[in-house]
Amino acid sequence: MKVIVIIPAAGLGTRMAPMPSAMDAKTKKPHPSKQFSELAGTPIVIHTLRKFAAVDAVSEIWIALRENEIAGFRERLAKDAPDVKKKVELVAGGEHRQQSVEHALNAISAAAEDVVLVHDAVRPLVTAEIIHEVIEGAKKYGAALAALPAIDTVKQVERTAEGAIVKATIPRAGVVLAQTPQGFHYSVIKKAFDEATADGFMGTDEASLVERSGHEVFVVMGSPRNIKITNPGDMELAEFYLRK
Ligand code: C5P
Repeated sequence: MKVIVIIPAAGLGTRMAPMPSAMDAKTKKPHPSKQFSELAGTPIVIHTLRKFAAVDAVSEIWIALRENEIAGFRERLAKDAPDVKKKVELVAGGEHRQQSVEHALNAISAAAEDVVLVHDAVRPLVTAEIIHEVIEGAKKYGAALAALPAIDTVKQVERTAEGAIVKATIPRAGVVLAQTPQGFHYSVIKKAFDEATADGFMGTDEASLVERSGHEVFVVMGSPRNIKITNPGDMELAEFYLRK
């Protein structure tokens, strides 16, 4: 049984820099997409790649990148990550995260019971323990994700021109906040993606596609440190965690 990891890293990261083509004041070069912003001198996506490469159970890693970033990334990999001995393949991503994952899913070769893990490039603080738990959950249940219990009270709102109005309070005990990795038997994720494509459904994570295809998704404990680097302030927090 193989464990194949897909890392979508083809986003523009517009919340990190207002315009991806804008110049970085410090380096005078075009602003990098957020997955290429550097933590301790190394692009975020390479930190993430290393976390998965260090797990024995992982067989191969596929990274979806923007087409024009593939060649540069290949060079960066050779320079920054000569320690990564696992098979690493690069594929062109798509316009949305779901399409980036789909492109990788179409490129891999897997058997029905092989496990496919999907993990955001911009979550470099994932731990080996979480990766193991998701792999075990996926093996046992066919579908599993890392998630956190909700600490804050969760409100359902209606967006308005001025902001939002609360419509209901969702009992916190019935809510978890989904992270990645999310893991599935290849047959489960492939069916879910084929159905979503046929129906024109777009989700914000893989589990939402699997749920709508009628398969239960098991929840394993994520970590508050497994942050998704989204806003510039997240970099400071990530650097702090990384140093510890
Ligand atoms: O944009 P968002 O914050 O949802 O990005 C989550 C992950 O999906 C990031 O690692 C990003 O690079 C990736 N992504 C992608 N292709 C896109 C958009 C986002 O691979 N078209």
